[in-house]
Amino acid sequence: MTYPQLSLYIDGEFIQGGGRKEQDILNPATNEVIGQLPHATKEDLDRALAAAARAFESWKKSSPMERSKILRKVAELARERAQDIGRGITMDQGKPLAESTGEVVACSEHAEWHAEECRRIYGRVIPSRNHAVRQTVLREPVGVVAAFSPWNFPFNQAIRKISAAVGAGCTIILKGPEDAPSAVVAIAKLFHDAGLPKGVLNIVWGVPAEVSDHLIASPVVRKITFTGSTAVGKMLAAKASALMKRSTMELGGHAPVIVCDDADVDLAIKLMVPYKFRNAGQVCVSPTRFYVQEGVYDRFVAGFVEKTQALKVGDGLAEGTQMGPLAQARRVGAVAGFIDDARERGASVLVGGAPIPGSGNFFAPTVIADLPDNARLLNEEPFGPVAGMIRFKSVDEVLARANSLPYGLASYVFTQSNRNAHVLSTGLAAGMVSINHLGLALAETPFGGINDSGMGSEGGIETFDGYLNTKFVSQLN
Ligand code: NAD
Repeated sequence: MTYPQLSLYIDGEFIQGGGRKEQDILNPATNEVIGQLPHATKEDLDRALAAAARAFESWKKSSPMERSKILRKVAELARERAQDIGRGITMDQGKPLAESTGEVVACSEHAEWHAEECRRIYGRVIPSRNHAVRQTVLREPVGVVAAFSPWNFPFNQAIRKISAAVGAGCTIILKGPEDAPSAVVAIAKLFHDAGLPKGVLNIVWGVPAEVSDHLIASPVVRKITFTGSTAVGKMLAAKASALMKRSTMELGGHAPVIVCDDADVDLAIKLMVPYKFRNAGQVCVSPTRFYVQEGVYDRFVAGFVEKTQALKVGDGLAEGTQMGPLAQARRVGAVAGFIDDARERGASVLVGGAPIPGSGNFFAPTVIADLPDNARLLNEEPFGPVAGMIRFKSVDEVLARANSLPYGLASYVFTQSNRNAHVLSTGLAAGMVSINHLGLALAETPFGGINDSGMGSEGGIETFDGYLNTKFVSQLN
């Protein structure tokens, strides 16, 4: 199985070699080296900044029709190339091939959505106090964007940011995930082949802190967008705001799932088991805290454990694999730490609970019950294949417990009562609530968190808000 050639993409050129430092890319299912990733030198970063600044002067004046046409072409090419791009994702990130290919196909819609919405970046006319005055509000692209996208959905997270910037008339320098870079190089090829003018999109790689410090400090960059951990997001947002640069932050979560006594319990189990273990739980909206009302607790937990035990874990390229390895060796220790802590506090491991011996970063799908509220698993984002089960008595009680963390990204509710659905959807401190089904992360719906889970939305009609300045023009005729 061949792994794609990796490169930088600067000012319309794919670049590798040239004595640049190279990083080994590992397959997390085997820990074998499968590729080499060139790191950008300081000169490369400066070239990317200069190219993005130069390209912005013409791109900001481009017609939305031209931007729309390119984004549509990107979506079309992404669908055509989904199998190849998906294979690369499975090889460097680990998720099962169906999930990788599915990510590419589903997320080609992000390019399409931005193609449609960029034709509707409307300003407005404000009635004036003097008939001879016309008051208009214009929305203009902010300028050069520095973007940092993570390794868990390497295609999804990068194409969202690039489509939003390009659609708004901004230019962008994106540092993708060095652990799982093939999808981002593939995206650069999609935009290149779709006819994006050179310099509008630039892709760089390197030591994350060095690259982000260099790009954020540059006066050329006017906006920062980051998806990743809360700790890193807070640091980057602080650096950006010290320089009065805007930022959009999509950070961690610790999603509660509330299963009420009146829920369709079989439906909740059927939906939640594959959703919990999708991408080995390395998902910011992954359900992590399962609050189950006492009347259905035993039934829900027994059904959840039974389905979890049946999951097939293996190399994502193998037929029938339902859960692959963790994306990096460091995640195995991190996930084990949550389980050790839970055991020490008297919790019961109902299934899984340990790494799977052999090569690769495999961890058994895990369900834990009898967790005290101070267990690390109920307070810090586990970002792994671990589900914690917690019993609750009343809706008021569960609302308080669900809202007790500083995170506020996704939340899930299962209930057949309109009252419970209303109380919980209005009461949950979260950017997104999905009730009785899995309804998040569509191109046409806003995706984002509150509190420690970040600020700003990607997708929906909100998607361009972070990429546009508002200008008020008052003209006396
Ligand atoms: P990490 O905190 O070291 O890194 C998280 C991400 O930030 C990575 O993509 C990394 O390359 C990037 N990063 C780190 N320091 C940076 C810097 N100074 N400048 C720019 N980018 C930087 O953690 P990790 O071990 O890679 O991942 C585990 C944690 O990351 C999880 O606990 C989870 O909270 C978080 N995470 C969240 C998402 C998400 O979708 N919100 C995605 C990936 C990782």
